[in-house]
Amino acid sequence: DATINKIAAGEVVERPASVVKELVENSIDAGASRIEIVTAGGGKNLIRISDDGIGMTQSDLALAIQRHCTSKLDPDDLMDIRHLGFRGEALPSIGSIAKLSITTRHHSEPHAWEIEVQGGTQSEIRPAALTKGTRIEVEDLFFSTPARLKFLKTDRAENTAISEIIKRIALAHPEIRFTLTGADRSRLDYAACKGNDAHLVRMGQVMGKAFRDNAVEIDAIRDTVRLTGFAGLPTLNRANSLQQFVFVNGRPVKDKTILGAIRGAYVDFLAGNRYPCVVLFIDLDPHEVDVNVHPTKADVRFRDPQHVRGLVVGAIRRALMEAGH
Ligand code: ADP
Ligand code: MG
Repeated sequence: DATINKIAAGEVVERPASVVKELVENSIDAGASRIEIVTAGGGKNLIRISDDGIGMTQSDLALAIQRHCTSKLDPDDLMDIRHLGFRGEALPSIGSIAKLSITTRHHSEPHAWEIEVQGGTQSEIRPAALTKGTRIEVEDLFFSTPARLKFLKTDRAENTAISEIIKRIALAHPEIRFTLTGADRSRLDYAACKGNDAHLVRMGQVMGKAFRDNAVEIDAIRDTVRLTGFAGLPTLNRANSLQQFVFVNGRPVKDKTILGAIRGAYVDFLAGNRYPCVVLFIDLDPHEVDVNVHPTKADVRFRDPQHVRGLVVGAIRRALMEAGH
């Protein structure tokens, strides 16, 4: 089982940012309204995520670190993935390649519980102190897989990847407060946004004023597919795609079809080596899309990719031309 976990870890955990993504998604699943992320050494030395979510009982905690025990995936309906987490292997995988410690408090318990997992070996579950929610610490990531450690980039590059993940997730969840500290130069603090324009306010927090002032709104529907968000004017462009944020049914993705469609939409407006800044939300019937293509869940498979591509290219081009470009 330890070997299986280690293999699974290779699929799920590519770099520190993948750990951050898995853990933050778990906090969101737990109904957190505040998620705090602390990192050290580009996430290799330490990743600590604290949330104020529902927490785990002692028996939840025992189950959480067992592989595939918690999967919410309904085998009869692979296309219908309503939860962010569905594979039940993040925690055991992380526990096989790092020092993992979990402290958690469920309201039905008289106190918190904690457990440690290191190289796949679990400690006893012990009573602990925590008033609410869950705190997960991951230390010395990849200590048991030195080959993987060698492939990591500089701390600075890993920190950038971590902030990008937080930005992506934060854009999709304006109601949650996010803080990120310890990542050099990239401290983030997004206050919770309430009300009808919460998405807009969060977008301003994440993308900054230059984007808000130089972007056009997108709101288009083609049959059952809805596209909303903002497309940066061509004058606002970058040398990389770090300012392109795409969500499918609320889930941050980096999908080739959509990224290609964005390139296509700007092809007449931007030189080939420049990248536009965009925030796009694509919402469609869960049966029209399969987000379960790869464990890291960045890629999606549309039932009708050309349909989605047409919508994205058409809506962005129209919005840019209406804005006088
Ligand atoms: P999955 O999210 O696919 O179920 P994980 O390995 O990511 O699998 O998490 C295992 C289980 O641990 C979750 O299903 C959940 O019950 C519990 N869990 C993990 N993180 C948290 C958290 N922050 N708060 C409450 N429960 C959590
Ligand atoms: Mg999960």
